[in-house]
Amino acid sequence: MLIVQKYGGTSMGSTERIQNVAKRVSKNAEGNKLVVVVSAMSGVTDEILGYSKAFSPVPNERDLDMALSSGEQISAALLSIALNAMGHKSIAFNGRQAGIITDSNHTKARIKDINTANIKQHLQDGYIVVVTGFQGLSEKGEITTLGRGGSDLSAVALAGALHADLCEIYSDVDGIYTTDPRIEEKAKKIERISYDEMLELASMGAKVLLNRSVELAKKWNVPLYAKSSFSDDQGTLITTEENIMEKPIVSGIALDKNQARVSLIGIKNKPGIAAELFGKLANANVNVDMIVQTIGRDSKTNLDFTVPKNELDKAKLTLEAFKANADLIDYDHEVAIVSIVGVGMKSHSGVAAKAFEAMANDNINIRMISTSEIKISMLIDLKYAELSVRTLHAAYELDK
Ligand code: ASP
Ligand code: MG
Repeated sequence: MLIVQKYGGTSMGSTERIQNVAKRVSKNAEGNKLVVVVSAMSGVTDEILGYSKAFSPVPNERDLDMALSSGEQISAALLSIALNAMGHKSIAFNGRQAGIITDSNHTKARIKDINTANIKQHLQDGYIVVVTGFQGLSEKGEITTLGRGGSDLSAVALAGALHADLCEIYSDVDGIYTTDPRIEEKAKKIERISYDEMLELASMGAKVLLNRSVELAKKWNVPLYAKSSFSDDQGTLITTEENIMEKPIVSGIALDKNQARVSLIGIKNKPGIAAELFGKLANANVNVDMIVQTIGRDSKTNLDFTVPKNELDKAKLTLEAFKANADLIDYDHEVAIVSIVGVGMKSHSGVAAKAFEAMANDNINIRMISTSEIKISMLIDLKYAELSVRTLHAAYELDK
C-alpha cells in the first residue's frame, strides 16, 4: 500500500516524541510505501510568529512565510535523521523539493499542483519520504505557507496527487466522537463517518481536522483515518457514504457557542429588503448563518439570523444604517447552536420530532430551527448548551 501519514505538532513536540513517531513509521514501513508529512514541533510556529511581531504588528508576508516555514523544515529533517539512525532509507523534503506548487497568497496560499516526480522516484528507490507540511513554492519561486493548521492540507493533497490508498492523520486526539467527551463522558468513538457528516461536525468545533482538508479529501476521494499517535487504539475512518454499511440515523451532536442572534422585529415586508440587508452585511464581511423569516402579516414581518460572536460589533455597525426599516433590532449573544448530524436522516421520518420532544422534556426552549439534508440545528439559550448536548445524545442513544 501507498500510505501518506501526517503527524501534528504535539506528536512531534520533543526529541523523545519524534523518536516515538520514528518507531511508528518504522513499523508501518514494512511492506508499504510511506510518505510522512509533519507539522512543526508544538509551539514553534507561534514562537516564530511572536519573534516576527517584535518588529511589526503586521510583518511583511513574504518574509514571514520564509520564517514560518522553517519550523516544519526542522521537524521533517529531525524525523528523517531519526529514521536513518534506525537503519531505514529516509529522506526529508521541503515544499520545493516535494514539488508542491501554490499560488502567491503568502500566509494563506492554496496548493495548485504537485509535481510528484521527485517523491515517486525516491519511493521507487526504497526511501521513506518525509515532507514538510504547511508549505509550498509559489509559481514565482517564493516560499509560501498554507495558513494555520495547513499541514493537514499538505497531507491530503499529497495523498490525492500520489493516488495513495490511505491518508492517516495522527494527532493527540484519537478519533471523532459522537459528541465532545468533555461535555458528555458517554460519547463514543465513531468507527466510520462520511465526509459530509465530518464537515458538519468539524465546522461546529470538533477540532480534529482542518475543514478544508476534509473538503479536499472528499473531492479527491482520499480516505482519511484520524488516529492518536500516543496509543494503538483504533481511530475513525472518514470516507464516502457508500463505504459506510450501517448508517446510523444520527452520527453526532455538535455544539457551537460562537454564534450570536440578531432579530429585526417589525421589518418592512416588501421585495428587496432582504437583499439590501444581507447585501450590506456581506459587504461588511459579516458571515450570516441560520436565517429565519416569518410569513408576517400586513406589511411587516420578523427576520432572525445568527452571526459569529466576534463579528457582532461589525454587524451592529452595519445595522445602524438599516434602523429605519424595522421597529426594533435586538441582539443576544447569550445563545448557542446545538445540531444533530447524520446522513441516515435523509431516509427516516420523525428525526426532528424526537429532538424537539427531548428538548421539551428538559424544558429547553428552542428559539430558532434550521435544517438541511443531514443536519437539524437549534438555537437555544447559552445556559442550556451542555444540557442540550447530553439530552440529544441520550435521545438518539448515541451512547449505545
Ligand atoms: N505548524 C503550522 C501551525 O502551527 C501548521 C500545522 O501544524 O498544521 O499552524
Ligand atoms: Mg492541526
